[in-house]
Amino acid sequence: MAFSIKNIFGDPNKKLLKKYEPIIDKVKVLEPSISSLSDDGLRAKTIEFRGRLAKGESLDSITPEAFAVVREASKRVLGQRHFDVQILGGAILNSGSIAEMRTGEGKTLVATLPAYLNGLTGKGVHVVTVNDYLSRRDAVWMGQIYNFLGLTTGVINHESSFIYDPSHVESKDTERDQLGSFKVVHEYLRPVTRHEAYAADITYGTNNEFGFDYLRDNLEYESGSLRQREFNYAVVDEIDSILIDEARTPLIISAPTTDSENLYQIFSAMVRDFVKDEDYTVDEKQRSIALTNKGIEKAEKKLGVDNIYTEKGIKYVHHLETAVKAKALYNINTEYVIKDNGVVIVDTFTGRLQPGRRWSEGLHQAIEAKEGVPVQKESRTYASITFQNYFRLYKKLSGMTGTASTSSEEFYKVYGLETITIPTNKTQQRVDHNDLIFQTEIGKYKAIARKVKELNKIGQPVLIGTVSIEKNEVLSDFLKAEGVPHQVLNAKNHEREGEIIAQAGKKGAVTIATNMAGRGVDIKLGGNPGSPTLYEEIKSIGGLFVLGTERHEARRIDNQLRGRSGRQGDPGATQFFVSLEDSLMRIFASDTIKNLMGKLNIAEDEAIENRIITRSLENAQSKIEGFNFDSRKHILEYDDILNHQRKTVYERRRYILIGTLDQVESKILEVIGDNAEMKKVMEDKITQLGKERFLIVARQLMLQAIDMFWVEHLEVMDYTRSSVNLRAYGQRDPLVEYKKEGLRLFKEMQIAINNQILNLLPHVGGGVITPEAVELKEVHEQAQVIGGGDGDKPAQNTATKKPEVGRNDPCPCGSGLKYKKCGMINAKEHRV
Ligand code: ADP
Ligand code: MG
Repeated sequence: MAFSIKNIFGDPNKKLLKKYEPIIDKVKVLEPSISSLSDDGLRAKTIEFRGRLAKGESLDSITPEAFAVVREASKRVLGQRHFDVQILGGAILNSGSIAEMRTGEGKTLVATLPAYLNGLTGKGVHVVTVNDYLSRRDAVWMGQIYNFLGLTTGVINHESSFIYDPSHVESKDTERDQLGSFKVVHEYLRPVTRHEAYAADITYGTNNEFGFDYLRDNLEYESGSLRQREFNYAVVDEIDSILIDEARTPLIISAPTTDSENLYQIFSAMVRDFVKDEDYTVDEKQRSIALTNKGIEKAEKKLGVDNIYTEKGIKYVHHLETAVKAKALYNINTEYVIKDNGVVIVDTFTGRLQPGRRWSEGLHQAIEAKEGVPVQKESRTYASITFQNYFRLYKKLSGMTGTASTSSEEFYKVYGLETITIPTNKTQQRVDHNDLIFQTEIGKYKAIARKVKELNKIGQPVLIGTVSIEKNEVLSDFLKAEGVPHQVLNAKNHEREGEIIAQAGKKGAVTIATNMAGRGVDIKLGGNPGSPTLYEEIKSIGGLFVLGTERHEARRIDNQLRGRSGRQGDPGATQFFVSLEDSLMRIFASDTIKNLMGKLNIAEDEAIENRIITRSLENAQSKIEGFNFDSRKHILEYDDILNHQRKTVYERRRYILIGTLDQVESKILEVIGDNAEMKKVMEDKITQLGKERFLIVARQLMLQAIDMFWVEHLEVMDYTRSSVNLRAYGQRDPLVEYKKEGLRLFKEMQIAINNQILNLLPHVGGGVITPEAVELKEVHEQAQVIGGGDGDKPAQNTATKKPEVGRNDPCPCGSGLKYKKCGMINAKEHRV
């Protein structure tokens, strides 16, 4: 028997679970009385709970009863009674922790418990999903329960928002309940404004949309245009995917600037014939490159300069390095794909495309130049936030996933979230076989194809996970050679993706998918909709076989793949096929393993199965996990500084935007201070315009001044961030430097904002508009392009529209002045 530290101190997870277990009995005891209520009686409980909360009762004190009500409602509308472990999961989510529950344990249903309970407060609950499709699916599916109990359900999608509304459907839709785990029934979703969807008691949506809406709201100029309300409580589904994998790229709202250069093309062409290890070196572990002297000389010769550093400065060096990076470290169909003549990032963890997201610091442009697609213009950031800092806005945060425990340290340190593993409803039957190790990648593929053919002969369904889209295709060719019919899933369409995954448990199905494709969609043995006979048949031949073709950097991702098999006590098996040529092995496996393998002298498609090697792979994984955690922590340490500033600015902005006119007045007076001259100006203006009109104009003026300087500040902070790293040569801690410099710049910015307000105050409403005012107006208008509308605009981070008249172009009004100098900003011609 394995000896573990847990045996001495007791399993810490068990201890945590103990705290929550009493809820199970409390809910059970209530069941008979709740079950005896009529439908109307059950619905009336919602009103009763709301009344009790209003009188000061706590959420905790109504929890067991509310859970019992949800369980009963689910029994009536879905025919599903929450399992005890699901009740436990609900309590953990409600307490603001992470519930680790295996795939297929029914987390979608678990979320209804805390969502209903917290939804009773009327302050809003956000249920966060990994894609739009799942948010619609879950809202339509679970919306039945909420609706039955009198709570409203909203959906926030990329270009649309909805309210769950079954009003025009007479009878219960049984097909929907059967297919609920992957089909969306659109008839139940009524399009509404963003604002209405957020006003619902419970709102489903993706992390991207919630985050972007937050940023958009902070670019608004009318309080009536705001979308979101408070950040009360969030349940994040697949929380590891969202808070760890996706947390590496921040959300950015930006718009193209008017000036641009073709330096990207120049440098891309320049490095095309650069040779690895001659002109530059690559550090695969750090994912970084370094130019050699030879490489630098080559570039200088091509540019016709003697010293690129002194003659061309940091900008050219940066371009050069970025072009090499794009060439050496970023591969098509692995890190990105080309779609619609643009470069779209592929999340290497999840295999999902990330349209709208862009790599920063010119890397995206460098890759566009490399691929010969149009290089998007340099853009200006209007607002940005990391997911870490977005989700920290919530008063209470919770999450669920099948795979959290290997990252529990990160969840705890970054978000203060405890991870609690919940036992499965039925005993797990799945068998996880040891890894098979091959000498070469080709050998591995051959062996995989043979294995799949074998399984396919008896009809056992196989799900094959790969690390990239490219490998998907390679493997597909090997299977074709063996004559095995199969489906290839490329993460290009979630709906289609969900459908293919939902059928992956059918007899004889062979599905190749990137690791995370179809996350969130249940694989039922026998397919969907299935039948007891089909289900039993697949069970008798061993259930779903999951075949991993490469170990991933994080154990979490491997576990996620394994988790697709063996749901709800079903039989199943998993096995990883790895080769010494896999990148994880190449970079991290110790020489001992390589030597050992070399000495064994076996055929390339023959495997050895060795516990030591499997374990050493797992060690390598945990090393990389630590390394990735550190780099995310590092990003966060920098963002924390900006986050503090962002909060200060947004708070001030929001106060002015939604405050009463009296509050606006107090803010203006604060800026004026004891400046007697300005006090006089203000009095005059009030007499001239009337107090109300003056304050309305002053509000706009203040908002515009804040935005203009904040946007500039973001740029300067970006610059500061790269320059402190250069200064690190001086043995100073770059983070400390950044903090110091950031604080100084922030103070300067605040002063500048106030000065700007004072400068412009004398001109408001008088018909005289200064060049500065024109510039402000421009910021305003560009921000509107992205922030405007009712969320019907694409939610991507780059604005798709740009002003068609450049700031230095002649003004189309015919004044002969440059656009930015022309005073007739409100002329019709300006609104092209
Ligand atoms: P997870 O998100 O945990 O992987 P899902 O929420 O997709 O799991 O649910 C998996 C399947 O289990 C769904 O088909 C769902 O209808 C079913 N299910 C969940 N809870 C119950 C229950 N209490 N009783 C019966 N079926 C359930
Ligand atoms: Mg799920």
